[in-house]
Amino acid sequence: LPNNNGNTLKKIKVNLEQKSYPILIGEGSLSRLYELIGRQNQNKKILAVIDGNVERIHGKLITKALKKFKNNIDYYILKPGERSKSFKELNKIYSYLIDKKFGRDSLLIALGGGVTGDLAGYAASTFMRGIPLIHIPTTLLAAVDSSIGGKTGINFESKKNMIGTFCQPELVLIDTAFLQTLPKAEIKSGLGEVIKYAYMSDRKYYAFVEKNLEKIFQKDLRITEEIIIKSASIKAGVVAHDEKESGLRKILNLGHTFAHAFESELNFKIKHGEAVTAGIIASLYLANKIGILSLKNLNEFLRLPLKANLSDKFFMLNKQNIFELMQSDKKARSGKTKFVLVSNIGKILLDVEAERKEIFFALEMMQRAAAKS
Ligand code: ADP
Ligand code: ZN
Repeated sequence: LPNNNGNTLKKIKVNLEQKSYPILIGEGSLSRLYELIGRQNQNKKILAVIDGNVERIHGKLITKALKKFKNNIDYYILKPGERSKSFKELNKIYSYLIDKKFGRDSLLIALGGGVTGDLAGYAASTFMRGIPLIHIPTTLLAAVDSSIGGKTGINFESKKNMIGTFCQPELVLIDTAFLQTLPKAEIKSGLGEVIKYAYMSDRKYYAFVEKNLEKIFQKDLRITEEIIIKSASIKAGVVAHDEKESGLRKILNLGHTFAHAFESELNFKIKHGEAVTAGIIASLYLANKIGILSLKNLNEFLRLPLKANLSDKFFMLNKQNIFELMQSDKKARSGKTKFVLVSNIGKILLDVEAERKEIFFALEMMQRAAAKS
């Protein structure tokens, strides 16, 4: 991780009534954490919960970048993977905190992808009724989406994110140097959310993402930074308007009604972001079928998610199972599945209902289009 001394960090503010916080973005920014957290935090006892792969790849550089914290900082290494989002792992973190005499005046840092952020975030929001939290996302998906907005959680009885809290961090620090070591499959997963934000933005940015998709795969630093800034800004804006998902925040579920059902049906053997990409494709067909998206726009808007190259796992999904899973989704009220659909770039409709045969049609078309891509 290069030292970012002197380089200015890009800043996005998440405006919240109770507690606003910044998202700071820049290569090598981790080495500036000490100065960035301010006097009141510099002498706190800190626990950094770190993803095992991140520790393995970047461990030495991390301890070097955080050397100003001297002996105030402890490291808890998390076994990588979704299975770590469990009560068992959570209990281990609580025990560690208690054994090492962490008190109310300590600080938790989540250094990893969505798994680390969700688990460490939940630990921070519950330990001694809540201690401050800093997110340092190291995957594309976490940088553009999951580290922003304050959702935390663990899985329970094979149900994802069943137990959780809203807990806003003090700071989200995105050091793009971490992303350079991400496997391709993780970039592809993050792209699902990047594509989602492209539909929520404007024509200019949408065209930018389409044009530069290959550069994102190649981890081009400038392009990657640009899409992180744009995605994070959109998410920050939505969260500022609706912190606890009572209305507008539903917009973030674009493609997700389908995606959650796909993940469930495939026993979570698919990455979240990839399911979102497939979900967006199905949503576009559905929007056209029910008459809110023109054929011309459908064909144009399909190009971007189809470029992301879906796994063949989506071709064989059982449509009836998907349909039933969507009806039992925790966001479906009174048995009616509600969709978030694109009617144009920057024009997203919430709570759209659809008939069974329209949903089946959209699933069929998604499978055909993905098979051809
Ligand atoms: P997500 O961020 O997509 O929710 P995870 O937190 O499970 O997912 O992270 C996905 C995978 O990427 C995990 O195997 C994790 O160990 C690994 N990982 C996270 N950050 C990096 C990184 N900067 N370089 C390489 N691998 C990483
Ligand atoms: Zn998502």
